[in-house]
Amino acid sequence: MSTRLTTDDTEAESIRIGPDDPRYLAVVDKRFNKRFSSSPDYVRLVSSTDQVTSAVENAVREGRRLAVTSGGHCLEGFVSDPEVRVIIDVSPMKRVYYATVGETFRALFEMWGVVIPLGEYPEIGMGGHVVGGAFGFLCRQLGLAADYLYAVEVVTVDAGGHAGSVVATREMSDPHRDLWWAHTGGGGGNFGVVIRYWFRSPDSYDNEPARLLPRAPESITTFKAEWRWSDIDQPSFLRLVRNHGVWCERNSDADSPNASIWTLLELHRRQFGKIVVRGVSTAGAAEGQVANHLAALSEGIIAPQGRELTRMPWLEFALNPFPDLFAMPPGGVSTKVKDALLKKRFTDRQIGVAYDYLTRTDHDVMGGMLGLATYGGRINTVAPDATAAAQRDSILDIACNTGWLDPREEIKNLTWARAFYRDLFVESGGVPVPSDAYDGAFINHPDTDLADPTLNTSGVPWYTLYYKETYPRLQRIKARWDPRDVFRHALSIRAE
Ligand SMILES: Cc1cc2nc3c(=O)[nH]c(=O)nc-3n(C[C@H](O)[C@H](O)[C@H](O)COP(=O)(O)OP(=O)(O)OC[C@H]3O[C@@H](n4cnc5c(N)ncnc54)[C@H](O)[C@@H]3O)c2cc1C
Repeated sequence: MSTRLTTDDTEAESIRIGPDDPRYLAVVDKRFNKRFSSSPDYVRLVSSTDQVTSAVENAVREGRRLAVTSGGHCLEGFVSDPEVRVIIDVSPMKRVYYATVGETFRALFEMWGVVIPLGEYPEIGMGGHVVGGAFGFLCRQLGLAADYLYAVEVVTVDAGGHAGSVVATREMSDPHRDLWWAHTGGGGGNFGVVIRYWFRSPDSYDNEPARLLPRAPESITTFKAEWRWSDIDQPSFLRLVRNHGVWCERNSDADSPNASIWTLLELHRRQFGKIVVRGVSTAGAAEGQVANHLAALSEGIIAPQGRELTRMPWLEFALNPFPDLFAMPPGGVSTKVKDALLKKRFTDRQIGVAYDYLTRTDHDVMGGMLGLATYGGRINTVAPDATAAAQRDSILDIACNTGWLDPREEIKNLTWARAFYRDLFVESGGVPVPSDAYDGAFINHPDTDLADPTLNTSGVPWYTLYYKETYPRLQRIKARWDPRDVFRHALSIRAE
């Protein structure tokens, strides 16, 4: 079963557009995070393997730095980098197989009734998403999307500057297997341009497409409930976050009956007015499961208000999940996301830090929040070196987030998010150094601060936070497949 990013267009040359073409801005400006911008010499709209190959080769011959883009959902400026002179955009490939996350969900469901546990936002491009591991609403039940990657087609550039396409599979006998492995969590923009993915469950040898991947859920139950900040004092905040952490510690094994529930606890700034918990359950008796979850969170404190519980078909949910969560104002937002993976719940000291940053008034950061997404379950059944997504012991993916509209608000927001994150992890140099409590950070949520020695004072390099012990292997693969370092960005893998 494959998700193809190309249209098999027979034209050898792709469309080259410069700044005077109205389509230029549409590509350069499609980034989700409006914090970054770039002005490449030109953009290539590519729609076949041949076109990608010649677009890459031309840029290399011209000595222009290139970046590939799919959905534009990078949280850092890896594509929108002022040094990038050529952007190769694979997204114009609109025929049948060009895929965002939402389009993949739809095609798999409508044609075979199956699913890959992709990420939460339908507009994310498959190109940059799957290679970063990719977790989503179904991750506790089904694992990471990268766990289902069977093969990948990539255009790479050799030492002589020649571009060519390679198909790499997970078959042990495949001489290109290392390139497949690197695409199971190594991150986008590192090895070449991904043209096509093939997916099948790790244990599936079937030839019948409907049995190659997990069956999609019959239906989904979503829920949401809120606490008014005016009802939450410091002791009840401590209790709520502690309750939540205890629930995660007790319910994150793959065989837990609660692996079928995924939740996001949104600890917004007090000025936002409320704390929100929302989630998704695929359990048949979801109502009881959700009620138990909310009861566990609110033990010893006031119960959440405004409970909403909705049952809907899987696809309806997947194509428009939690519209209020992802709604963007016209023109979009600038954001900063500082992610960490936790093996244990936050300590009371850390919950105190969170209370302080969410309630303090010296930073007027309306869009700030600490998000805690449940993790674990099936993700943690995979060996750390089986894929390039090495973090296989976590129960929570947390993030200090902030977003703003006015560029003049940037410094204030960045200062708040950076100080918050640093103080959460102050005991390990301001970052979640892999230990019995933390497991570093997730490369699909890249944060260049981790490479800044003034913000990461742990002495543990950024690449260990993202890749742990797998980094040297990724470096060897980088040296083999991208010897000229054509594909690079602020957090790209450096060859040995
Ligand atoms: C609103 C939002 C929600 C998100 N939710 C989730 C989530 O639930 N789970 C999760 O895992 N992640 C999530 N992410 C992160 C997202 O998966 C990553 O940022 C991903 O890299 C985006 O891919 P893209 O193609 O859309 O982005 P782009 O900005 O186009 O690319 C991102 C990176 O991948 C590279 N890249 C793009 N296309 C290709 C290609 N064809 N071949 C090789 N490299 C390529 C780029 O060069 C760049 O380095 C979310 C991001 C946002 C903004």
